[in-house]
Amino acid sequence: MATLQPVRGTHDLLPEDMRAQRHVADTAAAVSLLYGFEEMTPPVFEFTEVFKRTLGDTSDIVTKEMYTFEDRGGDSITLRPEFTAGIARAFMSNGLQQSVPVKFFARGPVFRYERPQKGRLRQFHQVDVEILGVPGPQADIEVIAVGAHLLKTLGVADDVTLEINTLGDTESRQNYRDTLVSYLNGHKDKLSEDSLNRLEKNPLRIFDSKDEGDRTVMAEAPLLSEHLNDHSRQFFDEVLQGLSDIGVETNINPRLVRGLDYYSHTAFEFVTDKLGAQGAVLAGGRYDGLMEQMGGRPMPGIGWAAGVERLAMMVGDAAGQVRPIAVVPVGGDAGRAAMKIAQSLREAGYHADLGYSGNMGKRMKRADKLNAIATVILGEDELARDAATVRDMQSGEQTEVPLKDLEAHLAKYR
Ligand code: ATP
Ligand code: MG
Repeated sequence: MATLQPVRGTHDLLPEDMRAQRHVADTAAAVSLLYGFEEMTPPVFEFTEVFKRTLGDTSDIVTKEMYTFEDRGGDSITLRPEFTAGIARAFMSNGLQQSVPVKFFARGPVFRYERPQKGRLRQFHQVDVEILGVPGPQADIEVIAVGAHLLKTLGVADDVTLEINTLGDTESRQNYRDTLVSYLNGHKDKLSEDSLNRLEKNPLRIFDSKDEGDRTVMAEAPLLSEHLNDHSRQFFDEVLQGLSDIGVETNINPRLVRGLDYYSHTAFEFVTDKLGAQGAVLAGGRYDGLMEQMGGRPMPGIGWAAGVERLAMMVGDAAGQVRPIAVVPVGGDAGRAAMKIAQSLREAGYHADLGYSGNMGKRMKRADKLNAIATVILGEDELARDAATVRDMQSGEQTEVPLKDLEAHLAKYR
C-alpha cells in the first residue's frame, strides 16, 4: 500500500542510521566548539522571502527545490533548504549586530525537492558553521580549518580533497562579467535551457551546472582569476597562505563557484570520489553581500554546511557504536540475580543488556549480535559461590570474578 511507504526521498532513521548520524553531528558540534562556535538552531521553516531574497532567483534551490506552501493564515512558508539564510535572519531579528563577531554551529534536517538517489535525499541533515562580522581572511582560514579538523576527526581526511577558489569582490566580478557573457553568447547553441536563463542574470553560476553540454562550454570559458583586482587577489593569497601555515592542503580550482548568489571571495568544497556521483561533502564560502540583500546593514559572513548522510556513509556503520556488557543467566534461579546485577551495572554507568529469554546458546548469540564487549555469565554454581564468569568477547578468555569485584573488573571495558 503506497501510504505505508515514506515519501520519496525521505527515510526512517533506524537506530543504526541514527547512531552514525549522531556520531557525525556530535563530532561536528565538539570540533566546532574547540574553535569557539556555539550551537544555535533557527526554525525549520521561515517566510519564503527569507530564502528567496537571499538565495536569488537563479539558484537551483529557489527555482526547483524548495518546499513552499501557504499556511492556514495565508503566509507563504518554506521548509529550510539550508541554514545560512535562517541564521542570517536570526542574527538580524535578535539584534546581534552589536555582538560581532558571532560564531554559530547548527545542525538539523533540511528539505530540497530533488531527484532522490544515493546520497541525495529530499529530507536530509546538515551540520553548519557560520562566522558573522569578520571582514578579513582570518575568518575564512578558521572556517576552513574547522571543516578540515572535523573530517580528520571523523577519519575521512584521506578520502577528501579541498578545492578552493575566489569569486573576488563585486568590482572584480563586474570586470569579468562582460568577457564571460560575450564568450557564452558565442556558444548559446550548446547551453542548457537553465543556463540560457542565467546567461544575463547570473552567468557565473553556469560553472556550477551539472549538464554535459554546459560543462564542455565552461571547460574553455575565460576565468575570473584573470580579472581579479588587487584587493581580491591579495585577499585570496592571504587565505591560501594561512591555510598552508596551519597545514591544510588546498587545490585551486578556478572553475569552482557556489550554487548560491550571495557569495564573494572565498569559495570551497571538500570533495570525495568515494560516494559515486555525489562528490561534495562539505562546502561553503564567504557571503559578504547577504545581509544587505535581506534588507539589513552590510555585514560580512562566511560559513559552510556538510551533508550528515554523506559523511555518515563515508564513516561507516561502526561509527558511534556503544558496545554493551551482556548479562546472561544460566538456569531458572539465575534470572533474578541477573536482573539485580544488570541494574547495579547500569547504576554504575555501564551499558548493560539483559537477554530476556532462551537458553545459554540463544543468549550468547544475542550478545554477539549486540557486539557486546564482555559477557557476564551467571551459572548456578558460580552464584552459589557469589561469583560470575566474565567472558572477554574479543579474546574469548573467561575469568571467574567474585560479585563484589565485578564492577572493578569490568572497569577496563568502559
Ligand atoms: P550538490 O552539488 O551535491 O547538489 P549542493 O551544492 O547543492 O550539493 P550545498 O547547498 O553546498 O550542496 O549543501 C552542503 C552539503 O549538503 C553538500 O556538500 C552535501 O554534502 C549536502 N547535500 C546537499 N544536497 C543534498 C541532498 N539532496 N541530499 C543529501 N545531502 C545533500
Ligand atoms: Mg544541490
